[in-house]
Amino acid sequence: MSRTALVTGGSRGIGLAIARELATAGDDVAVTYRSGEPPEGLFGVHCDITDTAAVDAAFKQVEEAYGPVEVLVANAGITKDQLLALMSEEDFSSVLDTNLTGAFRVAKRAVRGMMRKRGGRIVLISSVVGLLGSGGQANYAASKAGLVGFGRSLARELGSRNITVNIVAPGFIETDMTAELPEERQAEIKKSVPLGRYGSVGEIAKTVRFLSSEDAAYITGAVIPVDGGLGMGH
Ligand code: NDP
Repeated sequence: MSRTALVTGGSRGIGLAIARELATAGDDVAVTYRSGEPPEGLFGVHCDITDTAAVDAAFKQVEEAYGPVEVLVANAGITKDQLLALMSEEDFSSVLDTNLTGAFRVAKRAVRGMMRKRGGRIVLISSVVGLLGSGGQANYAASKAGLVGFGRSLARELGSRNITVNIVAPGFIETDMTAELPEERQAEIKKSVPLGRYGSVGEIAKTVRFLSSEDAAYITGAVIPVDGGLGMGH
C-alpha cells in the first residue's frame, strides 16, 4: 500500500532526489518548495518552513490530496557562512530558525497524524559538520548538531507509537550548496575524504529510502553518516 510522504525543500538538490526515490518506491510524495516552480511529476506545496501558519497550510493541502503524512523528511536547509567575529546575530538566528526550528515545526505538525495512526517515519537531514564542527560555519554546525539531540529526543518520545526518528548526516554532496565553494576549497575537501570524492544526491536518497522502509523498522535514534568516511562513523 502506498504511503504519504512529505519532503521539505524537495524542489532541488538532495530533497528532490529523496522525493524521486520515495516515489519510485511507491509512495505518494509531496514536496514543499519555496521559490520557483514545483518539480515536474511531484505534488508541490508552497511553503516557507520558517512560518508556522504556512507549514500548517501545506500539511492541510497534502492531507487533502493524499491523507496524513506517514513519512516526513525534514531536508530544507540553508547556510550563511562567516567567521564568528564577523557573523551577525541575524545570520546566526536565521540559520537556526530554518534548519533546526524548521524541522521542529514540520515534525510537530506531522506527529499529530502519525500518533493517531500509531506509526510513522521521520528522517532529519543533518550534516557531517554538525558532529565535526567547521570553521566559518558555527551557525550551520550548531543547527545540524541540534537536529541530533532533537531527533534522539523524539525517538524516545515516539518509539512506543511505532514512530521511528533517524538522522542522516551527509558529507560533501554534489549540489548547488557545494558548487558555490571556491575550487581550492573543493580540492581540499576531496583530499580529506577517505573515498576521495563528493557523494551523489542519489546516495543520500537511497539511505533515506531504506530508513523510511519496513526493513528499517527496528532502527531509531540513529545517526547515519553518508560521507565517504569523513566522520569515520562519528
Ligand atoms: P540546496 O541549497 O540545493 O536546497 C535547499 C532546499 O531547501 C531548497 O529546496 C530550498 O528551497 C529549501 N529551503 C531553504 N530554506 C527554506 C525555507 N525557509 N522554507 C522552505 N524551504 C527552504 O541544498 P542541498 O540539497 O545541498 O541540501 C539539502 C539538505 O542537506 C540541507 O539541509 C543541507 O544542509 C543538507 N546537507 C547538504 C550537504 C551538501 O553537501 N550539499 C551536506 C550535508 C548536509 P528554495 O529552492 O526555494 O530555496
